Amino acid sequence: MHRFLDLQALLARDEQALSEAFTRVLRSGWYILGPEVEAFEREFAQFCGAAHAVGVGNGLDALTLILRAYRQLGRLADGAEVILPGNTFIATALAVSEAGLVPVLVEPEEHAFGISVEAVEAAITARTSAVIAVHLYGQLADMARLQQLAQQHSLLLIEDSAQAHGARDEQGRVAGTLGDAAGFSFFPVKNLGALGDGGAVTTSDPVLAAQVRKLRSYGSSEKYIHDVKGVNSRLDELQAALLRVRLARLGEETEQRRTIANRYLREIRNPAITLPNAPAFSLQHVWHLFVIRCDQRQTLQEYLASCGIPTLIHYPVPIHRQAGYAELSHLSLPVSDRMAAEVLSLPLYPGMADEYVTSVIAACNDFPHGGSRENTCR
Ligand SMILES: *Cc1c(COP(=O)(O)O)cnc(C)c1O
Repeated sequence: MHRFLDLQALLARDEQALSEAFTRVLRSGWYILGPEVEAFEREFAQFCGAAHAVGVGNGLDALTLILRAYRQLGRLADGAEVILPGNTFIATALAVSEAGLVPVLVEPEEHAFGISVEAVEAAITARTSAVIAVHLYGQLADMARLQQLAQQHSLLLIEDSAQAHGARDEQGRVAGTLGDAAGFSFFPVKNLGALGDGGAVTTSDPVLAAQVRKLRSYGSSEKYIHDVKGVNSRLDELQAALLRVRLARLGEETEQRRTIANRYLREIRNPAITLPNAPAFSLQHVWHLFVIRCDQRQTLQEYLASCGIPTLIHYPVPIHRQAGYAELSHLSLPVSDRMAAEVLSLPLYPGMADEYVTSVIAACNDFPHGGSRENTCR
């Protein structure tokens, strides 16, 4: 059996640089909020084209701290509604709940994975104060239309960029600069991953950046002076140093992801398999995941496994079907439900061998469709 993602091999390519970064931090005697975090924040902001980046503990905290900061700045009221897509990873909703706000789930586009702009518009009420656009699987949501809608209704537009480091729109603007603020995750398997947890907030707003900076460190910008109730959610010096090494590789790794995705898009041909939509800006997709759809998903997954190809499901149970969100169980979200039943992620990672890619394509193309009962590898 191949691996879904060979993180060890991917990191082995940078073993020396990562070891040097580790040694540098080890010997520095400074482990929390120091020169490595400052340098990484500068470099990551520059990479995104954002004015500010603030390193935090993880991607969930990045989103939560944005919302908490806006509450403290008077931009979000108690119990305000925040619209987000029903097919995202649960962290997007948890951030809203954690900040004392009300998550409102709406459907994604029927034939793409991004939030439906029509569904957002239909869900706007007098209490709606923000929209979180998730760049799911590495593809930008329809930000131009969402920006317009947000402006019309005076809503904050927040990007969940946890899966989309470096994704660009047609004008070359990068995820992290397409809304009022963005949350990034550096969980190890993300396109830009640390060797542990990490996250960042990007924004062009110096006031928001300062508030998030304060919040991540007990609500304090001056030692032992606490203007607000904050949390402890900081990016470690060590993770920042390692991320600087990984960031230098990201452009090259994204190109490798695109090369593999383009082969899948061109060469997988099976009427039982729906390939991800490649809209006009698809060249700018960063392919965190390559997600196909199949109405006989389980049979396909078992078939691919019998060919030695591991696949994963992102995500099998939508948020409104989770016990932790029982209060949303009354919602009817048929598109999100159908996606959860049909999506399947194929292996795709930088450094994946050509022969492995070829074998994934061959197995997908050989999957018997049209009523055949056979489901072991040919
Ligand atoms: C990974 C992820 C998060 C959360 O990031 P963590 O660093 O794991 O907290 C949030 N949203 C999406 C879409 C993600 O994929």
